[in-house]
Amino acid sequence: MLHAGLLLLGTVAMAAAPADPSGPLPTPADVMRLHFIDVGQGAATLVELPCGAMLIDAGGEDGGEFHSNDRLAAYLAAFFARRTDLSNRLDVLLLTHPHIDHVRGALPTLEAYTVGAFVDNGQTPVQEDAALAMVAVRAWLDAHPTVPTLVVTTDDLPADGAPLRHPSLDPFGVCRGVDPAVGVLWGHAPHDPGWGEDDYNKARYDNENNHSVVTRIDFGAASVLITGDLEEVAIRDLVSSPAAAALDVDIYVVGHHGSHNGTTRDLLAAMTPAWAVLQMGPAARHGAWTAWQYGHPRQPTIALLAEEVSSPREPVTHLVGIGVKRFADTIIDDAIYATGWDGTVVIEADAAGIIRLGAPDVR
Ligand SMILES: [Zn+2]
Repeated sequence: MLHAGLLLLGTVAMAAAPADPSGPLPTPADVMRLHFIDVGQGAATLVELPCGAMLIDAGGEDGGEFHSNDRLAAYLAAFFARRTDLSNRLDVLLLTHPHIDHVRGALPTLEAYTVGAFVDNGQTPVQEDAALAMVAVRAWLDAHPTVPTLVVTTDDLPADGAPLRHPSLDPFGVCRGVDPAVGVLWGHAPHDPGWGEDDYNKARYDNENNHSVVTRIDFGAASVLITGDLEEVAIRDLVSSPAAAALDVDIYVVGHHGSHNGTTRDLLAAMTPAWAVLQMGPAARHGAWTAWQYGHPRQPTIALLAEEVSSPREPVTHLVGIGVKRFADTIIDDAIYATGWDGTVVIEADAAGIIRLGAPDVR
């Protein structure tokens, strides 16, 4: 995992001057760029490849002056203005699970861009706003039958533990010498594996988080894992499943916005990540459905990440949740980045597995 080279790269990348926003950045030759778009409390990950692009989740926060759909739309517009070679086309739109902080911007994205394929876990959400958003998405898909759709369930996963492959998931062929590989390690569980009840006497099986589509992307020697909002019981089953062998990655997109229930020691031990990225809003923005309300990211998760993430970051002090609506200054000196701390985070990985920070298309 090239840890030796990352010490230097981590500090150099932090000190690098931002790219000139007036001019387009060069089209990456053999680089995968992961854009963790600042959508507040929520998730939207744009995967930029030399010959294509994929959006995993299109969610975010909406309250007061902050509107994640505007942020997402502005970011995608700037991205496609630079990557004119992609002709406003997202090859894949994947929704990990149907919660509003992951799907709010799905319909506007489908309406604004050419989408090559749609992937989700097939669930109809309970949350009213998410249900309305997903009804609109499915109506759009019904009206556009040329867009292929793929529903991922755990029954579809290969018995040998290899990631699930499908042309709708991975339409990317060899391009400039690299064949990106997109595979799935988890999805909707059709039957309750015996997950029991949570602290509020609700069946954990009924929590859409536990049915999140878990995606692994390999780009040459670089790899990333996105677990959506998968929680402890499902993570336990994932880590003890044959797919555990496919969990070893370089970059961990931290589950459930850094909640205490979205990351486990066993998962981290299976991944051995060099870098980690959290997607949440800033602690300073108060209100319903914010990172402040949830206390994200939570201190025990940051402590676990600090133990396991192997690359350094120039030390910084950020607010970490010690409970709901309660935060404490915490020194971060590992390669842990977060949209709630840093704004939009871009991580570049080349085919040799070298990882560094990149420049966002919108600051
Ligand atoms: Zn979420």
